[in-house]
Amino acid sequence: MTKIFWVTCPQCQGEFYCHWHELRHKQIKLLCPYCSHQFLDKESSKIVE
Ligand SMILES: [Zn+2]
Repeated sequence: MTKIFWVTCPQCQGEFYCHWHELRHKQIKLLCPYCSHQFLDKESSKIVE
């Protein structure tokens, strides 16, 4: 089963999920599907994993 985590975009507050093994604690910027803002997982205003 693929592990995921939910993030909240700091710009538009949109919530979306990412693949945990690929993106969590990786210093890779996440791309918001709603406003195209790019941010690190630690910049998310909320993380659910
Ligand atoms: Zn956004």
